[in-house]
Amino acid sequence: MTSTTAELPLLLGTVEVRTVQRLSPSFVRVELGAPLLGDLGVVHPWYDQRIKLVFPGEPGAVPALLDKHSTGADESWFSTWLDRPEEERGHMRTYSIRDVVGEGEDARLVVDIVVHEGATGPGNSWALNAAPGDRLAIMAPRRGHAYGGIEWHPEPGRRLLIAGDETAVPAICVILEQLPASARGTAFVEVPYAADVQDVDHPTGVEVVWLPREGAEHGTRLHPAVTAHLGAPAAVTDVSDEEVDPDLWETPTFSSSCDEPVDERAAIDVERHSDLYAWIAGESKVVTGMRRHLVRDLGIDRRQVAFMGYWRRGVSMRS
Ligand SMILES: Cc1cc2nc3c(=O)[nH]c(=O)nc-3n(C[C@H](O)[C@H](O)[C@H](O)COP(=O)(O)OP(=O)(O)OC[C@H]3O[C@@H](n4cnc5c(N)ncnc54)[C@H](O)[C@@H]3O)c2cc1C
Repeated sequence: MTSTTAELPLLLGTVEVRTVQRLSPSFVRVELGAPLLGDLGVVHPWYDQRIKLVFPGEPGAVPALLDKHSTGADESWFSTWLDRPEEERGHMRTYSIRDVVGEGEDARLVVDIVVHEGATGPGNSWALNAAPGDRLAIMAPRRGHAYGGIEWHPEPGRRLLIAGDETAVPAICVILEQLPASARGTAFVEVPYAADVQDVDHPTGVEVVWLPREGAEHGTRLHPAVTAHLGAPAAVTDVSDEEVDPDLWETPTFSSSCDEPVDERAAIDVERHSDLYAWIAGESKVVTGMRRHLVRDLGIDRRQVAFMGYWRRGVSMRS
């Protein structure tokens, strides 16, 4: 990895773990620092700004995002990186920025990584063993350049509905902390255990409901809570594995199925929810079921909702 990223409109490079904190049974907080973060382009409010972390392919190896012989880098870096052997290129995964502390070259990115039992991947394994001094690579916004990666875009005055599982907790906490004081609505947050509930600042007009699963399946607390809140029977909509798009990403302006935003509304309840803006993120099958319930059964216009599959059970989220 060289430090020759000046020509790229984003930050690509190596960062070092400064601190590691086990927040609770399911969250590890890491603070990442490096001189390149002096060019970080993350400005308040960044809401659900996403970044990429690239975990080592072999313990101790720093993933190489750019060719070490490059004197510069153009936008072909991604295909060049993908062509490398896995042990050299490492494993790229998506995370949210929980906080930015410090300034200039002392700026540190704070990332909360979910740790879990069962099927594991490079992100989970890395976080469970992370220690100060470990190095990994990142892709993040560069100051002065458009980067994208923020999906939180409610129109002013909307009634807000925020729903997510533990992988969405970092993004949800930032959204809650950075909302205007006049915001109103409800956030439903499903976490593995009661001990994972976090203390988060939020406007008084926004109610925050934590839903510990305590061993139950993903979505079994979140889905019924959301549908009951919207005045529908608190049932979980059945979705078969074949129907799940692991890359589910539907926002008011984008659809992973390449559909134009279409009007799928049933002729019920359209007016009742016309002032709603919903942001829903978590396991793809759970989010697919919630999407079906909200759009098809309740008649909510999908242009009012961002539905995002943050991960998929049994699937490695390779880039
Ligand atoms: C925009 C966005 C923002 C995100 N922000 C965060 C964040 O801030 N913090 C965070 O922790 N995650 C976040 N995620 C989710 C994270 O990218 C995925 O959980 C990812 O799969 C983790 O990679 P991995 O290497 O651990 O597992 P992978 O290699 O992707 O998967 C390996 C196995 O682990 C399982 N698995 C993956 N994640 C979980 C989980 N949470 N619980 C149980 N099993 C799991 C998979 O189903 C698979 O069987 C975000 C995702 C997106 C798209």
